[in-house]
Amino acid sequence: MEVAVRVVQAACTLCQRVQSSLLLPASASASGSVHSKIDRSPVTVADWGVQAIVSWLLSDCFQDENISIVAEEDDETLSSSDGAALLESVVAAVNGCLIEAPKYGLRSPEKEFKAHDILQAIRRCSSIGGPKGRFWVLDPVDGTLGFVRGDQYAVALALIEDGEVVLGVLGCPNYPMKKEWLNYHQRYYRLMSKVSPPTSGSWHKGCVMYAHRGCGQAWMQPLVHDFGKLDWRNSREVRVSTVSDPISATFCEPVEKANTSHSFTAGLAHSVGLRKQPLRVYSMVKYAAIARGDVEIFMKFARAGYKEKIWDHAAGVVIIREAGGVITDAGGRPLDFSRGVFLEGLDRGIIACSGPLLHHRIVGAVDASWNSSTL
Ligand SMILES: [Mg+2]
Repeated sequence: MEVAVRVVQAACTLCQRVQSSLLLPASASASGSVHSKIDRSPVTVADWGVQAIVSWLLSDCFQDENISIVAEEDDETLSSSDGAALLESVVAAVNGCLIEAPKYGLRSPEKEFKAHDILQAIRRCSSIGGPKGRFWVLDPVDGTLGFVRGDQYAVALALIEDGEVVLGVLGCPNYPMKKEWLNYHQRYYRLMSKVSPPTSGSWHKGCVMYAHRGCGQAWMQPLVHDFGKLDWRNSREVRVSTVSDPISATFCEPVEKANTSHSFTAGLAHSVGLRKQPLRVYSMVKYAAIARGDVEIFMKFARAGYKEKIWDHAAGVVIIREAGGVITDAGGRPLDFSRGVFLEGLDRGIIACSGPLLHHRIVGAVDASWNSSTL
């Protein structure tokens, strides 16, 4: 857990730097730095950079274990003939971050990374999961669209043992320690980034959440640029909301229509008596929001045929559970992390709630309205 938290803290620094450079008006470095994957989702230097540093740092920390990592990115684009300039940017971002690894109580590599070291580190994350053994699961940048828009995203790292998520760490660089700071920070950030480029170290606005299975506790600490200076008095236990009346509950869901049916969840919300406007948030920050009691419900119903990937959920699931919440598929069954890179056998959608009362009502409402839906 300690290694995982430090690694995620370090990875978040890389993301913050890349995000700042993307947001600079007319920045030379921003041109051409957002790429499209085959499914047309965006990918940036940060996705590959984080995957490379997490891969290297975990392997370095656990040298005597032959660790396995399942992660989202591959090296195909970077290894291709027109990927050279991009690869160079990844090399620079990774070296800039790894040189500071000692600030997080981690080791820097003896020599600066060359292109082939980066490709090797990325390729190392080639595990395909499964029901037996132990493997790490990484989404280097969860919510890349939020990331390129200067909005919410997460670095998500989890450990799975024999098909069960045993620990999860969620780095949320734009999700402040207190909900009330959220609007203030985003407005201030947008304003300040136009006036003067943010320097690394000047932003202590994010948080890192983490939990270990079976502890019955989940924790949060501020994002820091020097782990040695982390003030542990600022770390605290997080707990789900105690609200169980739908009238006072808030639900959150993905921003993108492509990822969930907003009309179906709007109908569900109405039928269970939810009155507040849904909060649409990019990335697994939605899971952090539930674990911390900022919202009570998360619902996601993807189009038929879409298969959820384990790295988009593993870290968030264990954090929500340990913080006291309930998360299942729409049939009320736990998400199954034992069947490879996909959440195979997922029944219709995902429902996470702060408690069993709300969860029960929503699962019931899905059953009642499913057949008349177009999903
Ligand atoms: Mg991702």
